[in-house]
Amino acid sequence: MTDTRSPTIRGVSLRFVGRIFLLIAVVYSVLAALGAGLFLTRIEQDAIATRETQIPLILSQTRNAVKVERMSSLVRAIFLANDRRLERQLQLQIQALAQGFGFDGSSALTAGSRKVASLAKTIAATRQKEREDADIEASDSASAGSAKSTAGLVAYEEAIRILETMGKEVSGNSAVVADDIAGGIQRSAVAVRYLVIVALIIPALFVPVLLLLARRHLAEPIGAAIRNLHRIEKDEALEPPQSKPRLKELALIGDAIVSYGSTASELRRTNVVLQALAEKDPLTGLANRRMFEKFLAAAILRSSAEWGTAVLLIDIDHFKSINDQHGHPTGDRCLKSLAGLLENIPDLSNALASRFGGEEFVVVYDAPSSDHAFEYARFLCRKIELLETQSVDGTILRFTASVGVSFTTSPADNSADLLEKADRALYAAKRSGRNRAEVDRPMMGGGRATA
Ligand code: GH3
Ligand code: MG
Ligand code: MG
Repeated sequence: MTDTRSPTIRGVSLRFVGRIFLLIAVVYSVLAALGAGLFLTRIEQDAIATRETQIPLILSQTRNAVKVERMSSLVRAIFLANDRRLERQLQLQIQALAQGFGFDGSSALTAGSRKVASLAKTIAATRQKEREDADIEASDSASAGSAKSTAGLVAYEEAIRILETMGKEVSGNSAVVADDIAGGIQRSAVAVRYLVIVALIIPALFVPVLLLLARRHLAEPIGAAIRNLHRIEKDEALEPPQSKPRLKELALIGDAIVSYGSTASELRRTNVVLQALAEKDPLTGLANRRMFEKFLAAAILRSSAEWGTAVLLIDIDHFKSINDQHGHPTGDRCLKSLAGLLENIPDLSNALASRFGGEEFVVVYDAPSSDHAFEYARFLCRKIELLETQSVDGTILRFTASVGVSFTTSPADNSADLLEKADRALYAAKRSGRNRAEVDRPMMGGGRATA
């Protein structure tokens, strides 16, 4: 008896695997989205800081550079000027510029600019003193004038040196700020590049792995299952599994196919037995009457002007007396030996020999004419006559048989008519003395020939 209990299947369920993949996809998407979000937020914050702090700083440094340049021009102008009012005006402008540095919050610039303003004042004061001294010592000023000019020159050079230092600092600051901004942008671009590459590479690496897994754990077991189904269809032995599928559902399908395969082959064997029972005569192994009737109907449908259907109804002569003299089992032996003869009928087209019932047998075949069928029936009579059967007590028995022949060439004829005619011919053969053949020839007025 087949064990119908389903075995415990080890492995992972397809639903579980699906959920794991879904979870991985969701976690990956969330992490990628969070990473990208955080990163973009940082870039945005950098951009805001650049706009709100760095760029104003650069602008302020640019303004300071302009102021330093302007201050240098004013210092040069005050040094070159030769008019008290102009000097005074220039000095005031320098002072105003120096105060302006105070708003930008750079202590070095503020201190430098104040020093420059002070030096400008010194230059102007020195000039004024020179002019006053020139008025007092109009005729003899060469030596004194020379000494005063040197003091103005020293202040001028000091002021220019300070302004150069301030200029360098201002341009240096701007360069650092600009470099910071450029560096920040570059770093962000590099990081975005790596982020995008990593974000794309991870799924790209995941896809081949997924395909390999799908081939190994899905396609291969499904392919094996399909091959096994084809084998079951062709009644071939099942392909042994290389390894148990890891996915529970596929393992269940594989097991179900194996169990279906054994059920199917059991059913086939049962079918063969049942078919034999339904179509064969158990004593002789020949086709039974049911099979004969099916065969005859198909043969009649096949018949044409060239090839008709011949029916040879064979009945053992005085069989009852064989039974009576030698016993029923010996009678059975006679039936079997006649069946053995008929089973191997040579040279007939589409022939079937069957046991019609009792000690009657029937042969159907595609015959070219009723003469051919009649001749063949006579040939059979001779063969049967020569047949030797060993009785249960060991003696050799011989028996004869009579044959009734009928023949048709029209698919419109029916089996019953053909059988009736063969039976009529058989009756005629019996009446004419047995061990002979008779043919029913309706076209020729029921004429008959004898063996
Ligand atoms: P005829 O020459 O006129 O045909 O005479 P017959 O004795 O052959 O005909 P009858 O119909 O009187 O007898 C047939 C016998 O066949 C009767 C029956 O007991 C026997 N018989 C039928 N089936 C079997 C069987 O399977 N085995 C055996 N041993 N005998 C069977
Ligand atoms: Mg009979
Ligand atoms: Mg008989």
